[in-house]
Amino acid sequence: MLGLYVHIPFCLSKCAYCDFHSIVADEELVGNYLDALYNEIRISASIVQSQVISTLYIGGGTPTRLNSRQLEALIVQLKTNFNYAPDFEFTIEANPGTLTEEKAAVLASQGVNRISLGAQAFQNCILRKAGRTHTVEDVYRSVELLKHFGISNINLDLIYGLPNQTLTDWIESLKLATALKPRHLSCYSLTIEENTLFYDLYKNKNLQLPTEEVEFAMFDSNRKILPSIGYRHYEISNFALPGFEAKHNIIYWQNQAYLGLGSGAHGCFNQIRYYNSYDINQYIHNWQKLTPAVAHCQYIDLDRTMDETMMLGLRLLDGVKHADFEQRFHHSLDEIYGKEIKKLISRGLLEKNEKCLRLTKQGVSLGNLVFSAFIRGKSQEQTLDK
Ligand code: SF4
Repeated sequence: MLGLYVHIPFCLSKCAYCDFHSIVADEELVGNYLDALYNEIRISASIVQSQVISTLYIGGGTPTRLNSRQLEALIVQLKTNFNYAPDFEFTIEANPGTLTEEKAAVLASQGVNRISLGAQAFQNCILRKAGRTHTVEDVYRSVELLKHFGISNINLDLIYGLPNQTLTDWIESLKLATALKPRHLSCYSLTIEENTLFYDLYKNKNLQLPTEEVEFAMFDSNRKILPSIGYRHYEISNFALPGFEAKHNIIYWQNQAYLGLGSGAHGCFNQIRYYNSYDINQYIHNWQKLTPAVAHCQYIDLDRTMDETMMLGLRLLDGVKHADFEQRFHHSLDEIYGKEIKKLISRGLLEKNEKCLRLTKQGVSLGNLVFSAFIRGKSQEQTLDK
């Protein structure tokens, strides 16, 4: 089983906090990109041939920045070239301001069964400050539209720690978001990344961010409020109604194989981790000539695979199962990480039972400290092309 990720690096405008791989592009560039992407889809599918795709995720950027004709053509290319499991999860990211009736109809008729909607906040002034192009009303309209076309498996992305956001605003966002009955909620904390508008404002002391205490209280309110109304806290930033956990993301957290297609997309297949060129013109140029546009690839040896399995798997609140680890690596967790595990348990950050090793409540707040303890030496690295 294999996950498949497809990147659409286009947006209507750039949000103030965003360092994702996305640009504002004209129609000609978008058209050329899609043609190049179709070539990558066809060639990649012929390489993995008999592999069954269990999850397909079209992300960005803003995939719904494409028009309905382009969306339909992209999905048809993906569906006709790869083999899918009968019940495969098919997610597409959407931004409320770009989801029209025509596009929602295409997504529904083409079998998209999960939408991840970038709601981010439920206060228009906070959305404006963050450079979002949509309003709270657009979020309501989008959810209604999707439900009208029969897509009820909706994730809402929310961000806490935004400028001028108070704890009351955040709790209001949680309440208004859950009133829409999404199946899944992703609650991310804002990070100030270089090369963003927020970074410049922050440097010039022009950004009013919540204090660390307030931000922690926001994080804490997620794990108090959401489980109390039925959402299971199953990953540090993610909550789902039972049975609606994001299968595609679980592939990442369980360190399983996935292909990444499109400019800047990352993949990991046959113990090779790679990413495609972030230079969109380079990507187009390569794939117009049917030449892969891999910018970097790295062989992941067994030790590194184990370390990453721990680092990623511990993000899940069910943790890493002893039986899964032993079945995959033919060693017990204690044989490989006995010393680290003992230390982290004694510090109250990890707990162990007969089934699994997992973060404690305190460990969830200090995840990075735990994850870094599982990273041993470096693996062989090979850069192909930049
Ligand atoms: S819509 Fe998403 S990808 Fe596009 S600029 Fe905003 S945060 Fe970045």
